[in-house]
Amino acid sequence: MSKRDYYEVLSVGRESSEREIKKAYKRLAMKFHPDRNPGDKAAEANFKEIKEAYEILTDSDKKAAYDQFGHAGVDPNRGGGNADFGDVFGDRFGDIFGGGRRGGQRQAARGSDLRYNLELSLEEAVKGLTKELRIPKLATCDSCDGSGAKKGTSPTTCGTCHGQGQVQMRQGFFAVQQACPTCHGRGKIIKDLCNKCHGEGRVEKSKILSVKIPAGVDNGDRIRLSGEGEAGEYGAHPGDLYVQVSVREHSIFVRDGNNLYCEVPISFGKAALGGGIEVPTLDGKVNLKIPAETQTGRMFRMRGKGVKSVRSHAVGDLLCKVVMETPVKLNERQKEMLREFDETLADASKKHSPKAEGFFDGVKKFFQDLNT
Ligand SMILES: [Zn+2]
Ligand SMILES: [Zn+2]
Repeated sequence: MSKRDYYEVLSVGRESSEREIKKAYKRLAMKFHPDRNPGDKAAEANFKEIKEAYEILTDSDKKAAYDQFGHAGVDPNRGGGNADFGDVFGDRFGDIFGGGRRGGQRQAARGSDLRYNLELSLEEAVKGLTKELRIPKLATCDSCDGSGAKKGTSPTTCGTCHGQGQVQMRQGFFAVQQACPTCHGRGKIIKDLCNKCHGEGRVEKSKILSVKIPAGVDNGDRIRLSGEGEAGEYGAHPGDLYVQVSVREHSIFVRDGNNLYCEVPISFGKAALGGGIEVPTLDGKVNLKIPAETQTGRMFRMRGKGVKSVRSHAVGDLLCKVVMETPVKLNERQKEMLREFDETLADASKKHSPKAEGFFDGVKKFFQDLNT
């Protein structure tokens, strides 16, 4: 059975924030949890699917791998193993339900990771460069240092929950732990909101980052800048910034790993007689010696003229395919010379065209076989 898309499983969009994903998970997990659907196999399967999607999409590394490669990029059974339901409610739900049975305050959320799509030319990717990126993001408010409280004041302990972030509510016979309605689980109250961030602790700010792109990066590579994502809530850890590299198509070269490919047209005369031809490389033109009787499509390898790997520092090769070009716009004299020349090739005993002879021999045999 093919797996459903994780975003689809949780009914969230691809651009959803971690908080939205958690919210969607909480809603669905409550609905399908086995404790609420005893003996219902479909609900149990549903619950497992939801749980798996949630675990991948809230782990920034796994989520990035999933976004890039789909299910092939992540193996949900690796690492964590198959948690049973008990541990799901104990740990996992703990950080969603705001404290859960561990009690205490809700942790301020880590900032979101950001992704920046950087398009490079092939030359830039191969040689590396330093790029200035303008990143619009949420940054810790410098007026209140992220506390959200007006300058000169600080948040006070919530009187309702006495800083616990949780209160006990009576519902009939049951006492239920709930996030404190006064402080929304934070355990603190801000009396005078910071003028700049209005109590958020974060402000929108665009930042110019100077990013060193290493030589040899390729399409699909990601550069992680730790802590350069969005600021966390109330001074919590910031997220990371991922620079996603894409390389524009080049007019001459096609890159495959560390190798570069190109096609170089040569004249019939040069192909037949041999000689030097000019071949482009990323460092300028170089001379390539073509032997006499070179057939069209022949590949020449120029060692070390490819790309230096960003990981191993191995250097690839340049593979040049020579393509013989049929001359066009011939004048009468040229045509006459060619006719004359062509007639000289007709003598089969001289074996000027081994490929053609081989081919026509094959055709002859084919028809003979048909007749027998
Ligand atoms: Zn502020
Ligand atoms: Zn409170």
